[in-house]
Amino acid sequence: MTIKAWQGPSTIDGQDIMAVVSCEKRASNNDKTGDMVQVGFMRTDMKPSAAVKEGKDRSICGDCPLRAQVRKDTGNGEAPCYVNTMWKASTWKAATALKEDIDAAVKAMKRKPVRFGEYGNMSSIPREVAEELLMAASKGWTLYDHEWRKADNQWLRSWAMASVHSMAEALEAQARGWRTFRVRGPDDPLMDNEIQCPHRTCGVQCRDCLLCDGKRMTTIHGNLGTVLRPDMRKNISEIAH
Ligand code: SF4
Repeated sequence: MTIKAWQGPSTIDGQDIMAVVSCEKRASNNDKTGDMVQVGFMRTDMKPSAAVKEGKDRSICGDCPLRAQVRKDTGNGEAPCYVNTMWKASTWKAATALKEDIDAAVKAMKRKPVRFGEYGNMSSIPREVAEELLMAASKGWTLYDHEWRKADNQWLRSWAMASVHSMAEALEAQARGWRTFRVRGPDDPLMDNEIQCPHRTCGVQCRDCLLCDGKRMTTIHGNLGTVLRPDMRKNISEIAH
């Protein structure tokens, strides 16, 4: 089932985009994530594959270093983005024919863990819409954002992992208060404050793990009162594939 949760101007470049929720009745064949509700972001005026080809995916992906246009501009060759945009064509087509229905989207969030940003950045949609969807994800979520440097996106630290591609970037994002998800080379070591994604080591799926859900304080109520405990969970790293 496809739901168009929201449509409006991108916070990145003002182009018309939409937040699309996909929830399948059949079990997912994604071995890494397992069965999750998927939330992605797409331009409304062109298929995702066309947006990538024309460099217009910036509306939803910002300046992600994995974008084809960014790789071309910086002389880094082929885009290593893992998303197969050809597979997004049918979802895009279905969503463009739908009316916005945020209530149906919120209802879908409550069914299963949610994989926010399965394509595109959550920070490309307005904060009030993003928060409504995030707060509805009562069974947990995963979320990564490449636009973690932007001042306007700092609120997302409580919900999202900063996507980083080097130790230097990881340290920078952590200093700004983010937990990080770092993709590293096969011979690169883990940092002291990181763990290897347990999907590789234990085969656990994201839907059960849910470690990639940002950084936030926990409220603990005890006999002596209420205390706020900082999020002590480690950052996550995965080997590039
Ligand atoms: S750490 Fe957990 S939630 Fe994050 S990518 Fe790995 S399996 Fe998924």
